[in-house]
Amino acid sequence: MEKYFKDIFNGAIALLQGMSITLKTMFGVLAKDEATTVQYPEETLDLDHTFGYVQAQFDDDGYSNCTTCMGCIRACPPGCITLTRGKHPENPKQKIAITYTLDYAKCEFCNLCVEACNDDAIFMAPIHEFPFFDRSKMNVEMVTDMKKGNDLKELSDQEIKDMEAKMKRLF
Ligand code: SF4
Ligand code: SF4
Repeated sequence: MEKYFKDIFNGAIALLQGMSITLKTMFGVLAKDEATTVQYPEETLDLDHTFGYVQAQFDDDGYSNCTTCMGCIRACPPGCITLTRGKHPENPKQKIAITYTLDYAKCEFCNLCVEACNDDAIFMAPIHEFPFFDRSKMNVEMVTDMKKGNDLKELSDQEIKDMEAKMKRLF
């Protein structure tokens, strides 16, 4: 019985703590007369570029870096990656992905595929606005449909904007 009332008391304290934060924020906003939301999509927030969509990485000659080791496919929980293995056009002994398809409808953006890749063949592109209006178009073939990519670490703000525009044109 004692535990029963103790739980009720602790629940009430937690509720009051939560409400105090809500009220503090509400009155703080009213006092400053500043909105904490933006009118999306006309206005956007300046988001930290640490998360985005999985993209293929290409070498200086425009070939995919993917050596078809299948590490990303084994690491992907929902199984949304498929690829086709082929020979490198300039070095037939070297394996290369001639198609690399990712179903964004299934992707959880968990980054496990990127972590599993030892060849820098895929990376998380800093794209936060990537809407699809047709589910059938969410299965994206990256090697053949995308042009040469960039190293995420070397992207300038202008390059990020260019990449966003390039990706939006694909859909
Ligand atoms: S981010 Fe996660 S769910 Fe998406 S393709 Fe990579 S491993 Fe699969
Ligand atoms: S993207 Fe990376 S991990 Fe996946 S198959 Fe290609 S080289 Fe292997």
